[in-house]
Amino acid sequence: MIPHSIYIHIPFCRQRCNYCDFNTYAGLHELIPAYSDALIQEIQILASGLDQPLPVHTIYFGGGTPSLLPAESLEKLLEALNSAFRFDPPIEITLEANPGALSLSYLRDLRGMGFNRISLGMQSAHPGELVFLGRSHDYGDVVNGVEWARLAGFDNLSLDLIFGLPEQRIAVWRDSLDLALRLSPEHFSLYALSIEHGTPLGRWADRGLIPLPDPDEAADMYELAKEKLDSAGYIQYEISNWAKSPIADFQYQTSSSRFACKHNLQYWRNLPYLGVGAGAHGYANNVRTANVLSPREYIHRLLPSPLHPPTPFPQTPATLETNPIDRDTEMRETMLMGLRLTREGVSDERFQARFGVDLSRIFAEEISELVNLGLLEWVDDRLRLTARGCLLGNQVFVRFV
Ligand code: SF4
Repeated sequence: MIPHSIYIHIPFCRQRCNYCDFNTYAGLHELIPAYSDALIQEIQILASGLDQPLPVHTIYFGGGTPSLLPAESLEKLLEALNSAFRFDPPIEITLEANPGALSLSYLRDLRGMGFNRISLGMQSAHPGELVFLGRSHDYGDVVNGVEWARLAGFDNLSLDLIFGLPEQRIAVWRDSLDLALRLSPEHFSLYALSIEHGTPLGRWADRGLIPLPDPDEAADMYELAKEKLDSAGYIQYEISNWAKSPIADFQYQTSSSRFACKHNLQYWRNLPYLGVGAGAHGYANNVRTANVLSPREYIHRLLPSPLHPPTPFPQTPATLETNPIDRDTEMRETMLMGLRLTREGVSDERFQARFGVDLSRIFAEEISELVNLGLLEWVDDRLRLTARGCLLGNQVFVRFV
């Protein structure tokens, strides 16, 4: 059976960042013990719907702030996962962490129980930008977090940064990149700030208190980051992601460098994953699932009860929506997500093996138009974005929706 991935959502944060529209809540810490129990319950229900243990090759604890969970809770969750599923080595187990809330002993505990990848939300090195974003840490916390992670034995560490803030000067972005590079992470995720409705930034923008980010300046910052990371030995393998790697690792279809995020590759290759936790999404057995958003409601739905009707895999009592995926949708989603992989793209051979048709035939019209516009290119049997296509990705993706 094809190896699956598992995403575990931890919807708790110390405070809400000003730009964040994720399903996460400040001030609900008292729910953490019951929530951890509910996660275990959901894991067991998922596994009970299967005839044989599901092979799992990546687990990702995201949020929210997963590092708010005590080490003992994380250990119990890993034990539950290990009993419920078959871990396929070398399994990648990631924890997203907030740099201001870490300690060496906590990181040692995590490493000891099997976590082998840490993703730190650095976002910026500039104190004013961090205040603007509503982050509760500073660059010194990131330095400490990285140093402690190394001491604890983590050799696979990722930093997230945000660019394209309103009125952000490119020199400040350059400083953040330089200070992040000084920490030698194995991986970078860089995101352009998006101002979302319902967030403090969205309200400030609606009232005219802040200007909207300038897309041309954000494009310049993206280009600067590409140049800097390229000269520092990082390979871009996805629109927003770079991994440290010898170039040979990436030469052909592969984004499979040791430090490319295996978990996110599962999404981009449109392969199956289970979503566990409040608001988590999953995709398995050709069904997309979405869980109930509220952590309280999530806990309530997973309280052990003989009254729970059995749910067919991959549903659980927490499932709010299911959406069966037909073959046409699966092919389109495979293009939509696979084209984000800037080196690998979508292989015609793999597509043929999966769907029994050539992608060059089934999407002939879309591909020919996008190749003529200079947004897509063929490299061997792989279709991928050009450098221009990377900047104008939405114009490409919309053709496969
Ligand atoms: S720490 Fe992350 S999840 Fe939590 S509020 Fe900030 S951006 Fe959102």
